[in-house]
Amino acid sequence: MKKTKIVCTIGPASQSAKIIKELLIAGMDVARLNLSHGDYASHTKLINTLRSQARVLKKPLALMADLQGLKLRVGEIKDALVLKKNDKVMLSYKKMPGKSFLPLQVDISKFLKKEHRILIDDGQVELRVEKVARGIIFARVFVGGKIISHKGLNLPDSKVSLSALTDKDKKDLLFALKMGVDMIALSFVAGVKDLETVKKIIYKNRLKKNEEPWLVAKIERPEAVKNFDGILKVADAIMVARGDLGVEMEPSQVPIIQKNIIKDCLRSAKPVIVATQMLDSMIRNPRPTRAEVSDVANAVVDHTDAVMLSGETANGKYPVEAVKMMARIVAETEVSPYDDLPANFLGDDKHSVVASVANTAYRMAREVGAKALVGATLSGLTARMLARQRPQESDIIIFTNSTVVYRKMALVWGVRQFLMPTCKTLDELVNKSMALVKKEKLVKKGEKIVLVTGSPVGIRENLNLCEIRTIS
Ligand code: PGA
Ligand code: MN
Repeated sequence: MKKTKIVCTIGPASQSAKIIKELLIAGMDVARLNLSHGDYASHTKLINTLRSQARVLKKPLALMADLQGLKLRVGEIKDALVLKKNDKVMLSYKKMPGKSFLPLQVDISKFLKKEHRILIDDGQVELRVEKVARGIIFARVFVGGKIISHKGLNLPDSKVSLSALTDKDKKDLLFALKMGVDMIALSFVAGVKDLETVKKIIYKNRLKKNEEPWLVAKIERPEAVKNFDGILKVADAIMVARGDLGVEMEPSQVPIIQKNIIKDCLRSAKPVIVATQMLDSMIRNPRPTRAEVSDVANAVVDHTDAVMLSGETANGKYPVEAVKMMARIVAETEVSPYDDLPANFLGDDKHSVVASVANTAYRMAREVGAKALVGATLSGLTARMLARQRPQESDIIIFTNSTVVYRKMALVWGVRQFLMPTCKTLDELVNKSMALVKKEKLVKKGEKIVLVTGSPVGIRENLNLCEIRTIS
C-alpha cells in the first residue's frame, strides 16, 4: 500500500461520478476544487458527488477548496491577440479602444515601473514596461506569442501590495465553509497577515468548534519564500506551488526550494504537497515523459506527504491513467531505501513531550519489529507526529472520533485512519483500539504493535504514553 498521498484537481475531465469513483480506486486521497471557475450550484453538486462516491467505497477522501487569491489575469479578449517581438501594447484596468490593448481585471499600474517584466501564460509571453501614465501601462513585447482571455499574469519585478484575499475569495471561502470542506488552500500568500485574515474568517464561520478546516498556504511568490518561517507557524499545511513559483522566480531555484520547504514542514510536523506539472504530458498522452516520472519519484525521495495532479486530472485526456501512474511511481519509490529518513533529519526538539513520546514509540517499533504504530487522536497531532518519522517497517494506524480529522488525515503521509466512538477512560480506549485492529485485520496474531495514547483521555494534543502489545 502506498504511503505518499495523492491530491487530484477536479475539473471538466473528472467531475462525473464514474470518473470520481475510478480516481478513488486508482489512489486519489484528496480532491482539490478550483473555486475560480464555475458557480456555486455546480460546486455543490460536485461536492455531493465526491462525498457520496467516497462513502460508497469507504474511503476517507478529503476535500480541498482552492481560493484563487491574487491571481492576476488578462480580462476578456474577443479574438486571440498575437504579439510579435518589439510590438507595442497597452494594458489597463479601464476599457480602451485599439487592437494592441490587453484588458486587466485589477488595477496593477501603480506597482509597475519602467523595465519591469510582465509575464503572461506561465511566462510564455514577456512584456517590458516602458512607461505608466494615468493607469495605463505602455509596454513592449520582448518574447512574442498568442494571448487569449483569462491567461495568468506574473509580475516578478514588482511588489504587489494587495491582500491575497479578494472579494471573490471571501465569498468563495464562506461557501466552502458552509459546505464543510476539510481544507482551504490560499493562493499567492505573501506573508503571515494573509493567513491570519483567512484564519479569522474560518474561526468565525466554522460549522463546529475543533472541526475547522486546515489552512493550506500555497508558496508561489518570492515573498512567501522569504517569509516562510512565519507562514509555517500559522498555516496547517503547505503547498509547493511550483507553477507560479517557477514564473515568479527562476525555475532553476525551485527544486532546492522544494527540498528546503519539505524539510521545514517535517520538522514542524505539518503536511506538505508538491504540486504542478508532475505528469503534465499526460494531459495529452497516455504515458508520461521519463523526466516527469523522475520528478514524482524525487518528490517522494524528498519526503513529501503528498504529490498533486492539476490539469492531468482536471482537463486532461487521461485522468485515471495519470493517478494510476502516479500511484505506481510512488509505491515503487517507497520500497527503495532512498526515501528513508536520514538520522538527524528532524533536528533536535528537546522541549516537546509529544515529540518525545512519538520519537520513542517509533524507536520502540523499530527495535521490536512492530507491525504498526497505533494511535488514537482527537486533533490529528498524534498522527502527524508519528508520520513525520516516516516509519518504513511499521504502518501508522490512527483512530479518531472526528469525521473531519478522519478526512484531514488523507493528506498525511502513511496514515491509515479509522473512525472510532468517543472513549471515556484509557482502558476503554485501549480495548476499543485493540478490538478495531483485530476486526479490520490490520495486524496478524502474534505480531507486535506499539500503542500510543494520552492519559487522561479526552484532552487534545495530549500524547504521553506508549506501550508494546502482542496481538493475541
Ligand atoms: P494553481 O496553483 O494550480 O492554482 O495555479 C499551483 C501552482 O501555481 O503551482
Ligand atoms: Mn498557482
